[in-house]
Parts: sequence; C-alpha cells; structure tokens
Amino acid sequence: MNDGNTGNSVVSDGNTGNSVVSDGNTGNSLILECRDISKTYVQGKMEYEALKNVNFRMETGEYTAIMGPSGSGKSTLMNIIGCLDQPTSGTLLLDGQDVSALDDDELSKIRLHKVGFVFQNYELLARQSALENVMLPLIYAGVPVKERRIRAEEALHRVGLGDRMNNRPNQLSGGQKQRVAIARALVNQPKILLADEPTGALDSKTGEQVMELFRDLNREGVTILMITHDAGIARHADRMCVIRDGILTGEEAADEKA
Ligand code: ADP
Ligand code: MG
Repeated sequence: MNDGNTGNSVVSDGNTGNSVVSDGNTGNSLILECRDISKTYVQGKMEYEALKNVNFRMETGEYTAIMGPSGSGKSTLMNIIGCLDQPTSGTLLLDGQDVSALDDDELSKIRLHKVGFVFQNYELLARQSALENVMLPLIYAGVPVKERRIRAEEALHRVGLGDRMNNRPNQLSGGQKQRVAIARALVNQPKILLADEPTGALDSKTGEQVMELFRDLNREGVTILMITHDAGIARHADRMCVIRDGILTGEEAADEKA
C-alpha cells in the first residue's frame, strides 16, 4: 500500500502478494528482523567475533538508533542489514524476505530497491552535480531519463536543496553534502533508510539540522535506522538499542536511556 507521501510501503494490503509480515494487530509490518546474527572476521589465523548473536527487529514507520562506542560492531551490523555484507551465521529477514542466503546479484537488487544508505562521509561522486549524484540509483534501476530528472529534483527539494541542484560536492557545505546523500538514499523509495554515523563529520549545529530532517522524514513515513557513538544524536530517535563488544542490548525509549 502506498502512503501517498513517500511511496513507501506502510502495510501489506494482502492483495499484492507481498510477503510482508504483518502482526495482525496494529497493522504494522515487520520490515527488519535479525535472528541470532553473528559475524566473525578471519585474518590469517586470527579470528575476531564482531557480532555475537544479535537479535533485533523493526517495524515499518519506526525511527530507531543503535548506539555504541567505536569498534563495538555498529558498521558491521549496518553493512549486514544493508546487504553489503553477510553474516557468518544467523538469519536476516528484510521486508519479509530471507536475504541470508542470497547471491551477490540478488543482494545488489535488494540494495537498490529496498535500502537507502547514508554514510558519515557522504560518499558522493566529486565530479557530478548534486542532481547527477541523486539520479545515479535511478539509472541503475532502469528509470527512463525524463522521470529520473523529475524524481531526483523532487528528492532534492524534499531535503531543502532545491536551489543547489547543479552544484558539485566541493561547492556544498558538509550539511548540504549530507542532504544530497539523503536525497540519493531516498530517491528509489526504499523500505528503510540506514544511516551510519550520519552526523559524524558535521559540527554540532549542522548535525542537529540533519536530525531535524530525519525527524521530518520519519513523520512523512520514512522508516529510519541510525547508528551512532553519540548519545546526544541517538536521543533524536524514538527507540534506542545499545551495542557493546558485538552484543546488542536494550529496547528502550531513547529519552529514558540517554
Ligand atoms: P564500529 O562501527 O562500531 O566502530 P565496526 O563494526 O567497524 O565497529 O568494527 C567492529 C570490530 O570488528 C572492530 O574491532 C574492528 O576492528 C573489527 N573489524 C571490522 N571490519 C573488519 C574486517 N574487515 N576484518 C577484520 N576485523 C574487522
Ligand atoms: Mg563504524
């Protein structure tokens, strides 16, 4: 079903044949479920257990933060949830689909259509304008050229950058660059927005502005999972979990915890 604002799927209507898991009570659907996810990095004879039996679930429409110190396994978990990496063991359900055993091609399709990624360092193409950066995922998705431009412009307006579309990254401030990255993450109407330390490279005032944008986007229906080492940033989410040494704990309201 379309919520009319974001184009994001809110609940399964039971007619489309989508395998979205609905809890049957609230009408909310489970967008993400990690079951006993573990990740062991192997380097030569050394093994490092970066994630230990992580269990975690999110429903469509949630805004959740995972907070933990540097080296606690945040990016490892985020990369697995975003299908950039695979767990050593455990099951990951994304939008009702078991993605744990998919091959690279299938995973890249899921990445393209179901998740939008935002990184600490924006990861924009330096030689391309803001508009071209935002159009890129639409090219991969095979969207016709005219529609690409329209949708990319809409996404840039949505993040407040309607007047900077032709600027290249070096002609934009850090906060503006992150807005371009957010527009790019949203342009394919993903089921979930994943943000790995989205304010990590920004001064605190600009970081707060990005948090305001996340709040607005979530009000419009965007499901957000953010990871951060910063309690002040995590507090902006509605729910917060804590990760330490690869162990995820806590399922508390963000205010109580921070
Ligand atoms: P965070 O994002 O919370 O700072 P990471 O998930 O990046 O933490 O890393 C968790 C732990 O796993 C760290 O101890 C890190 O050194 C280790 N690690 C991360 N990536 C690799 C890798 N590719 N090979 C070996 N160890 C890694
Ligand atoms: Mg990290």
